Amino acid sequence: MGSISEQKPHAVMIPYPAQGHVNPMTKLAKLLYSKGFHITFVNSEFNHKRSLRSRGPHALDGLPNFRYETIPDGLPPSDADATQHIPSLGQSIRNTCFDASLKLLRRLQSSASAGHAPPVTCVVCDGVMSYSLKAANALGIPTVSFWTASACGFVGYAQYRYLVDQGHVPFKDESYVTNEFLDKKVDWIPGIDKLRFRDIPSFFRTTDRDDFMLNHFIEELEAAHEATMIIINTFDEFDQSSLQYLSSIYSPPIFTIGPLPLLLQQIPHNHSLMSSIGSNLWKEDTHCLQWLDSQESSSVFYVNYGSITTVTSDQLTEFAWGLATSKCRFLWVVRPDLVEGRSVIFSKEFKEETEGRGLIVSWCSQEQVLNHPAVGGFLTHCGWNSMTESLCAGKPVVCWPFFAEQQTNCRYACVEWGIGMEVGPVVEREEVRRVVVEVMEGSSEKGREMKEKALEWKKKAEAATRPGGSSYQNLEKVLDMLLKNFN
Ligand code: UDP
Repeated sequence: MGSISEQKPHAVMIPYPAQGHVNPMTKLAKLLYSKGFHITFVNSEFNHKRSLRSRGPHALDGLPNFRYETIPDGLPPSDADATQHIPSLGQSIRNTCFDASLKLLRRLQSSASAGHAPPVTCVVCDGVMSYSLKAANALGIPTVSFWTASACGFVGYAQYRYLVDQGHVPFKDESYVTNEFLDKKVDWIPGIDKLRFRDIPSFFRTTDRDDFMLNHFIEELEAAHEATMIIINTFDEFDQSSLQYLSSIYSPPIFTIGPLPLLLQQIPHNHSLMSSIGSNLWKEDTHCLQWLDSQESSSVFYVNYGSITTVTSDQLTEFAWGLATSKCRFLWVVRPDLVEGRSVIFSKEFKEETEGRGLIVSWCSQEQVLNHPAVGGFLTHCGWNSMTESLCAGKPVVCWPFFAEQQTNCRYACVEWGIGMEVGPVVEREEVRRVVVEVMEGSSEKGREMKEKALEWKKKAEAATRPGGSSYQNLEKVLDMLLKNFN
């Protein structure tokens, strides 16, 4: 091992193996690398293969001090280019990940003893990968629990234990989950007054006390107490009350280091990392960026449901005709696995109606699309990365939350941050048409306000991530803590 490597601190980064977790973990890895860390980035075997297929055989060659490792996710091997079933993946990881992480960390430690890599300084685990966190703790390695979702979502999940203890969950039967119940205010969280039961992350809506997702989140939130520190991809001003509440219930210090896309801009653009380290699991369409180049400023409405959300054929049809009848230009990302169990087919009438003003692709570079001046609004499923990427681009959002803490994000976007409006869960073409027009043509007061608010929040996020800003300073505090015992 060369002398430079010997002096480097070594961070092992273990994301939850799904696109929305791998992306922010990669960004954090790049930040740590740019601060002088040796990085071991741990992919699941399935995602590793997918990355090579979608981005080319050298996509994961890394750099001398940025290396990739893999661990199994425990599911049967598959060459599918599709998102894995989330509860099955979760259960499988639960069974395999502690042992796999322990084995890997031991191997990295022996490799350090043999002088092949620097000793492991810290393990950065996704906030829902407590198995890896426990493995690192078992070896006495400092741990960072990286919560890649929103702070308000974190607060929501933190209520699961209380809901069970109070007898709200599990529900006796489905009929208990009425609109009347869901509209009730959540009135027991200090400092938080905007949430209703329907805004709590969706997995509490179960009739089964043994439901995997319910228990998974209860366990993960408890495990975060065992981390050396917790970091969140948000910034202080954006979600102060949630952060205050979380600091009151967790003893490990909590640091906000987001939004990561903007903090990452502090790394010089010519840094070798910027081009060589990517994280997409799907093959990107690049033609859509050229198409956007030929469109007028703020004239294109962008629709993307992230990597996991699925829609029914009927919902797809309603979205399609909502976009068609809005008469707006649009870029619509329709993954091949978007409609569960079916291939996606659009009617001849829809194609004729939207020819020349609508482009449909299967996957794009979302950050580039959102930052393109031609894009004026974004219909999103409210995944936290999509929300923060939109915030960084200063674009207003139309919210169609699917599951998990997307409901919470939607509520905050619409009533707390003022950057969003919601489309009801039962998609109706007329409602889709109306919101698209409101956002794109500013035909309503709300539509105009959302645009202004989105730009205001963008400026605040930029200030938080510039030198002297809260997230910038927090990253320095994180580094200080991690390097305290280094050398
Ligand atoms: N993404 C992308 N291109 C697409 C769709 C999604 O690059 O066509 C990225 C997006 O930028 C984000 C991630 O995939 O970083 C999706 O994460 P998010 O938290 O928004 O949703 P999830 O997929 O976890 O539901």
